[in-house]
Amino acid sequence: MSERVIPIISQPLGNLPVPEILPADAWQSGQALRDQRNRPLRDLRISVTDRCNFRCSYCMPKEIFNNDYVYLPHSALLSFEEITRTAQSFIELGVEKIRLTGGEPLLRKNLEILIGQLAALKTLDGHPLDITLTTNGSLLARKAQALKDAGLKRVTVSLDGLDDTIFKRMNDVDFPVSDVLEGIEAAKAAGLGPIKVNMVVKRGTNEQEILPMARYFKGKGIALRFIEYMDVGATNGWRMNEVMPSSDILKLLQAEMSLMPLKASQAGETAERWGYLNEHGKHEEALGEIGFISSVTKAFCSDCNRARLTTEGQLYLCLFATQGYDLKPLVRSATDPKALTQAIAAIWAQRDDRYSELRVSEPMTDNDAAPSSTKRKVEMSYIGG
Ligand code: SAM
Ligand code: SF4
Ligand code: SF4
Repeated sequence: MSERVIPIISQPLGNLPVPEILPADAWQSGQALRDQRNRPLRDLRISVTDRCNFRCSYCMPKEIFNNDYVYLPHSALLSFEEITRTAQSFIELGVEKIRLTGGEPLLRKNLEILIGQLAALKTLDGHPLDITLTTNGSLLARKAQALKDAGLKRVTVSLDGLDDTIFKRMNDVDFPVSDVLEGIEAAKAAGLGPIKVNMVVKRGTNEQEILPMARYFKGKGIALRFIEYMDVGATNGWRMNEVMPSSDILKLLQAEMSLMPLKASQAGETAERWGYLNEHGKHEEALGEIGFISSVTKAFCSDCNRARLTTEGQLYLCLFATQGYDLKPLVRSATDPKALTQAIAAIWAQRDDRYSELRVSEPMTDNDAAPSSTKRKVEMSYIGG
């Protein structure tokens, strides 16, 4: 299986006059921007590289992402200045939070420079941006302090178990757990908090790590979030019977720990939050919290306010999209920043995506693969998680 996987070809937007998509007066500066389902644009995820030093089987399986795989050439990547200019346009449309991702974002050289540039931007209300980063943690011990100094607020670290054999099998590059834990400690020491840890649960692969992970992070001031294994991309051979529903994970945890549901801290939050109860049955914040990201069994499309910008400047409106919009020509022409903002507004205004909601409405059986209508979905390592 050495089939070359080409990221989904995007719809070129550069030469498309914006009024063809949206009447020129349909969105004006200062006006609230809403998509077709009345969802605002608040959260921008920026992928800064399509490369990674891990080969997690659920994301960049080795058989496909091997030595023959052709990554984007450096000239195709948006420069830090171009990313910052694009981020500014998104902010004018209501974005308040930016998450840097990838591939592995810490592989992008001099990332601190980009973080410094983004940290200088202000939201429409004049507040600093909420800037965060999702990483596999492999380079975090080395980089945490520099990232903090540059203006990064917090990090999310992915870790799929505490058992070395299981974790190494999942990252498929023999990377040890201890180095990721060291990265988490370094992030904590640098003040990059509150820290979140993401664990993708694959039934039959790492479900035995659920309880050890919960025990380990309880009381450490770190939120542990369990992510249902998703049918993103087209290369991971996803099957429904490998998904462990959040409800099953919760049951497993509740057999040992007392938990209570917590209110969402903000609209559009991806995780359902649960807190620990102390021995008096009262919620105790200091014990930390657990989160569930149930993208397969419980859709949260109705308030999804997230847009995704790929490494080469394409805008995706949904994690499961089969097509993006090429912003690069507009970003690179740079003659009229308003044209870029208008284009993004136009694209957002006609957004109607709700992949998970539609999938949840069609019950799946154990052996089901991802719906065939979406076989050409964009890869997670390209679009960013
Ligand atoms: N390399 C970084 C990392 O692993 O944290 C950032 C990019 S990664 C694509 C972002 C997140 O997506 C990670 O937490 C990863 O576990 C998650 N992810 C990737 N493929 C997934 C899948 N098929 N199902 C659920 N989560 C997935
Ligand atoms: Fe790399 Fe993150 Fe994908 Fe794993 S999940 S292969 S660390 S991009
Ligand atoms: Fe948002 Fe798409 Fe996920 Fe629904 S499926 S929550 S629209 S990214």
